[in-house]
Amino acid sequence: MEFSYTEEQKLLRDLTAKIGNDFDDEYWQAIDEEHRHPQELSDKLVAQGILGMAIPEEYGGGGTGLLDLAIATESLAKNGVGMGAIGLLVGGPVFGGYLISRHGSKEQKEKYLPGLVNGDMWAGAFTEPDAGSNVTNIKTRAELKGDHYIVTGQKMFISHMDGAKYIALYARTSPFDPAHKTQGLSILVGGLPDPHVEARPFKKLGARFVDTCAVFIDGMKIPRENVVGEEGNVLKAMFDVLNPERIIVAAAAVGTGLLAIRKAVEFANERKIWGERPVSSYQGLQFPLAEAKVLLETAKLKVYEAAWLYDQGSPKCAMATTIGKYAASHASIFAADRAIQTMGGSGYMCEYGVERLWRDLRLNAIAPVTNEMALNTIAQYDLGMPRSY
Ligand SMILES: Cc1cc2nc3c(=O)[nH]c(=O)nc-3n(C[C@H](O)[C@H](O)[C@H](O)COP(=O)(O)OP(=O)(O)OC[C@H]3O[C@@H](n4cnc5c(N)ncnc54)[C@H](O)[C@@H]3O)c2cc1C
Repeated sequence: MEFSYTEEQKLLRDLTAKIGNDFDDEYWQAIDEEHRHPQELSDKLVAQGILGMAIPEEYGGGGTGLLDLAIATESLAKNGVGMGAIGLLVGGPVFGGYLISRHGSKEQKEKYLPGLVNGDMWAGAFTEPDAGSNVTNIKTRAELKGDHYIVTGQKMFISHMDGAKYIALYARTSPFDPAHKTQGLSILVGGLPDPHVEARPFKKLGARFVDTCAVFIDGMKIPRENVVGEEGNVLKAMFDVLNPERIIVAAAAVGTGLLAIRKAVEFANERKIWGERPVSSYQGLQFPLAEAKVLLETAKLKVYEAAWLYDQGSPKCAMATTIGKYAASHASIFAADRAIQTMGGSGYMCEYGVERLWRDLRLNAIAPVTNEMALNTIAQYDLGMPRSY
């Protein structure tokens, strides 16, 4: 067991810390208020090879593993970016990168991977109105007509529709069979924009650095050769995307929680209202932040372990990811909440940048997977308890 960073990982951590510090609270406040994609950060991450670092070298990427991407993600978050890069880090390296590099054909790799190194974004469309936590309930249909599929259906809460070059669509290529619920689902890659696809963005509490839409698909034509992985048997490919998504989101959550603590401590060390002692000297404020730190550091170990297991191709990755994702979302929301409390009224005001961290982090108890579903998985598959639903 090895817990120290390699020299390359230290350089990566420092580089991403520097990139993160180039974008201040004012920048993120404007992104939040304008519901705008952080293009300037995206350009920098492309220029420094971060968005392409996990793409195989033969396609122009850095050829690193998911653990390195998690280290970069956490460092960006901790150094000012918060959750702000997550749309980019999931939309490129995960929804496009891991899907294609692990399950794409040679032709698909040649077609898609170089673009991801240059910052192409992908939307990943799993969720549907009647298939939220239950992906086996997916009703979007892809019907084969000659050498093309014709796709019709509705997707819900799909991020990155504005600006994504491709959409990875999870659809039924054969009818639902109650005896084999996960059979008949396929992943199809379509180009965007498409006249048969309409995306209607929602207004939302946080995560405004990326759009999130209801998506209506009516007769989208996708060549059969754009099916990724095994047609009708999608489970392995799906989890090779869902697990890194959860790991990267969790790594960002850990970094964001640590950022919230740092901001709160800096504020409270300066704030004096009962004489010369700063408010940070009160144990009532110290203990919750210290507790948040404990929870975040322990979550981080599990998240890194999950990333390492993914890189090893280990089946243990799934449970480590579930535990790490739950721990990171729990710890980071608690950290941001306590940071607001530590700062009093200032913590509630937008200009101090902590309420935004809380709003952005609050999502992580719901997406990419809800904390209830994470606990279901742990109870059933780790503890050996009966399935409750
Ligand atoms: C901002 C945002 C961005 C998103 N981006 C994307 C995206 O890019 N692509 C994509 O495909 N999806 C995306 N999602 C969707 C997200 O993955 C889903 O919201 C999430 O999986 C939960 O599904 P749901 O919202 O339909 O809730 P539901 O599944 O309807 O759940 C409702 C509640 O019931 C609970 N629940 C459900 N089943 C059980 C059970 N068996 N036991 C106990 N409790 C249960 C849930 O935990 C939850 O609290 C996004 C969501 C949001 C909010």
